[in-house]
Amino acid sequence: MKIETLAVHAGHAIDPATGAVSVPIYLSTTFERDIEGTYSRGFMYTRNNNPNREALEHGVSVLEGGEAAAAFGSGTAAAMALFQALAPGDHVLAHVDAYYGTSRLLREIFLRWGLQADFIDMSNLDEVRKALRPQTKLAWAETPSNPLLKIVDLAAVAEIVRSANVLCVCDNTWAPVLQRPFELGCDLILHSTTKYFGGHCDVAGGIVIVKKDSEFFQRLRAIQYSGGAVPSPFDCWLILRGMRTLPWRMRAHSENAMKIAEFLAQHRKVASVHYPGLRSHPGHEIAGRQMSMFGGMLSFEANDGRDAAMSVAAKTKIFTRATSLGGVESLIEHRASIEGAGTTSPEGLLRLSIGLENADDLIEDLDQALR
Ligand code: PLP
Repeated sequence: MKIETLAVHAGHAIDPATGAVSVPIYLSTTFERDIEGTYSRGFMYTRNNNPNREALEHGVSVLEGGEAAAAFGSGTAAAMALFQALAPGDHVLAHVDAYYGTSRLLREIFLRWGLQADFIDMSNLDEVRKALRPQTKLAWAETPSNPLLKIVDLAAVAEIVRSANVLCVCDNTWAPVLQRPFELGCDLILHSTTKYFGGHCDVAGGIVIVKKDSEFFQRLRAIQYSGGAVPSPFDCWLILRGMRTLPWRMRAHSENAMKIAEFLAQHRKVASVHYPGLRSHPGHEIAGRQMSMFGGMLSFEANDGRDAAMSVAAKTKIFTRATSLGGVESLIEHRASIEGAGTTSPEGLLRLSIGLENADDLIEDLDQALR
């Protein structure tokens, strides 16, 4: 089946008890045991598993083409579990432009727990080759990256690290459906489902999908139910509902973002636009190979630095000044001041999450704000 059909049907079935077409939400925290002491219906206690989480994990792994998935209460909890599944002394290779919360996890929590980490520019394949060590167990790729929309060649990175027996994870939060990391050789995919999967800025979640069920994944599964950083049944239900429209939303987000990037690229008050759909973008060719469309995220730099950027964000009427991304409403954010000390985001940079409004209205809004 094609991706639009999978998105609508994977994880959904008619409820055999009632005929309900929408999956019911199972709030029960505990499940009845059989007379002989077993759980033949597959559920015991909601932290371990529940029908809504199982449906979500099944649906997302079918959509991504993986064998199994483990859902968490946020994208960060999912990343945390991935790092916890490693052992002290293991080395992680991460993209320098990875989501700052993920780098912060590594730097502030996992270095103290004995993991080692190097942050490199994964768009430079020589750097990837040179940074591999005998202890390297996980390579963390993220593309397009945040907030500079840098492009990593996923197939090339996956091949290099596979030859060193290193697992390759792709944080695919920014490009679900548009980018198929398993087909490009990655072993694991992570999504913050808070973003495009949920799609309406009203639920937090995260998920890790594996291409092949493995001992590593079983460790992750054990961390999920022993650690308990799990999403509620309602959260799972909302995320699975969001998935049903995901391919069509990604198409519309991408079409809108392309129009807005082209508008900004010719604006006299804009110094640069970071969007992989523009021919001028250094990663345009690779993005064209590994993405079916270029996504709904872009950033741009105002000519006159921080004050000019702040003034644009202050004047928009349709774009809301807020962090996060992937919802139906467009958001604008001065990234450097959100990330704070140690940010690598230029002071004049504004990040846009392009929503599903009419692109002409969004362009008009940016035009008046740039005046
Ligand atoms: N990965 C990426 C690429 C993100 O943009 C984010 C959040 O912005 C996360 C992971 C973390 O997800 P969450 O906020 O759900 O913990």
